[in-house]
Amino acid sequence: MEVGCPMRILVVEDEPRMAELIRQGLSEDGHVVTVALNGVDGLAMAQPGVFDLLLLDVMLPGLSGLEIARRLRARRDRTPILMLTARDSTSDIVQGLDLGADDYLTKPFSFDVLLARVRAAGRRGPIAQPVWLSTAGLTLNQGTREVRRGQRAIELTRTEYAILELLMRHAGRVLTRESLIESVWGGDSDIESNTLDVFVRLLRGKIEPAGETRVLRTVRGVGYCLRAESE
Ligand code: CA
Repeated sequence: MEVGCPMRILVVEDEPRMAELIRQGLSEDGHVVTVALNGVDGLAMAQPGVFDLLLLDVMLPGLSGLEIARRLRARRDRTPILMLTARDSTSDIVQGLDLGADDYLTKPFSFDVLLARVRAAGRRGPIAQPVWLSTAGLTLNQGTREVRRGQRAIELTRTEYAILELLMRHAGRVLTRESLIESVWGGDSDIESNTLDVFVRLLRGKIEPAGETRVLRTVRGVGYCLRAESE
């Protein structure tokens, strides 16, 4: 059997029996395991540098695993996240990966698979921070939050920046209105769909003012898509 590096792992799982099973199994594999039984405690315990891996159940009372992942990534925490989702909930998986999870496992899972995924996460280590995103003549620096189109610097508000960063990370792919709202404002927000449209209109006014080639496409009834090809 492959021997992995011992890791410090935070397990956030609200079913006590499942949490204990995971804790025991990972401990036997040599890892140091801490358990949080709800999302709020989990987020509070997941301070940067304390854990090498976070194992987040999606369905948690209070704060979902998806929301924990979103908040950690929003504060630039790059600790690897392995998401535990219910079987067949593809949207959870897609959303989890969009929000910054690195890997996922569907329940019920075999323990050998869990251990293998944990070892794989250990080998990969912390996720490298991509700094420059660039597409369709736009460049965005995730460190300094500077945005340019060609040589022209663009000033964006926090929300405009968050929308553009998402679109650039997924350039060439259509992001649904729901996933944009979820990622930018969070799952428990009651943002209306037309609020998103207002921000996209403001963003467009800045990244593609009159006369410049359009790069942000509206996909009617679905969402938005930023051009992937270079200008
Ligand atoms: Ca659960």
